[in-house]
Amino acid sequence: MTIDNKILEDKLAQIRHQLHQHPELSSQEHQTTLFLNSYLETLGYRIVTPQTLLTGVIAEIGPSDSKIIIGLRSDIDALPITEKTGLTYASVNEGVMHACGHDFHMASLLGAAELLAEHANKLTGRIRLIFQPAEETHVGAQAVVEAGGIENLNAIIGFHNKPDLKVNEIGILTGGLMAAVDQFKVSFRGQGTHAAMPQLGNDPIVALTNTVNTLQTIVSRRTDPQSPVVVSVTHIDGGSTWNVLPETAWFEGTVRSFDQSSRQLARKQFYQIVNGQAETFGLSVDISWIEGPDVVDNDIVLTPIVMEETKKHAKLITPKPSNAGEDFAYFSQKIPSVFAFIGSSGTTDWHHDDLIVDDRGLLPAAKWYFYTANRLLEYFGGKTLNDR
Ligand SMILES: [Zn+2]
Ligand SMILES: [Zn+2]
Repeated sequence: MTIDNKILEDKLAQIRHQLHQHPELSSQEHQTTLFLNSYLETLGYRIVTPQTLLTGVIAEIGPSDSKIIIGLRSDIDALPITEKTGLTYASVNEGVMHACGHDFHMASLLGAAELLAEHANKLTGRIRLIFQPAEETHVGAQAVVEAGGIENLNAIIGFHNKPDLKVNEIGILTGGLMAAVDQFKVSFRGQGTHAAMPQLGNDPIVALTNTVNTLQTIVSRRTDPQSPVVVSVTHIDGGSTWNVLPETAWFEGTVRSFDQSSRQLARKQFYQIVNGQAETFGLSVDISWIEGPDVVDNDIVLTPIVMEETKKHAKLITPKPSNAGEDFAYFSQKIPSVFAFIGSSGTTDWHHDDLIVDDRGLLPAAKWYFYTANRLLEYFGGKTLNDR
């Protein structure tokens, strides 16, 4: 490679700091989009972002008539969190923070963009960079798919930085790496009354607490212990004072799972318990169920190839799957894909207001995109770059 490692490492740190300082919420990443556009144009990329995609950038390099196209994906959005890192480059956008490290992902993909641009006339296939908006709200990947952003791709790769992995550690496994996400909200309606005369009304609070407890039996008594499922009720609300029984009470939460049968079973059992409790207590009930991203499922054929390649450049480890969700799943359900966890030696986990990731992790991540893309080009019939 002609770009000096140290120079590139410093450059990527600078880029990340700039992005970190100016985080934008999901679907509002307008300045970020402008920044990425101009950076990629300077490197000679063709910007091919469909007009229907309001934020985010899709750009290509390599022979435009090639039928081999490999997608490299980064997300670009930040979270509604007030930053407490005390960094010199901390967020200047009040109440918004790159607390999931999507700044790390963008800087790494721009690093890969530099390396690819350097070899542009030797590429025997196309590389499509997908800077996807709105991952945190789980609508960005779908928007990219609907806009045609993954059309004609042979494969797509992506990664999430992992604060508990060290710099230069890369975790990949075949199959489910991140969980399917479901979200629920349940509202019970009874009849309000004086707290001293419960027999004159119909109390939704007792039904609610009973239901929350009974839902714990989905995991302990229904789903296969070999297939992880999580049922978490995270928010309950009912009543407004100490001496009145309310008419309504509600709760919400999430279910996480790693395979379709557990996902369906958990949902079926959830409805059965909630409806059964409503029946038992003579209440009416409204259940709203929102299906989020499916499992991030690493391709059975491509993953071992990517792992072999990764081993040559970094410390490959077998990661523990994460119960967090990732909307990269909308890609992995459509085309062969590989998603990795790349070490960022972070101070805390994702979504914390004091998360600081290590800039030294950027170069290994940029290189991972680069050599994996190159290996996949070769796998799909292109030629490998000989001087990596
Ligand atoms: Zn996140
Ligand atoms: Zn994230």
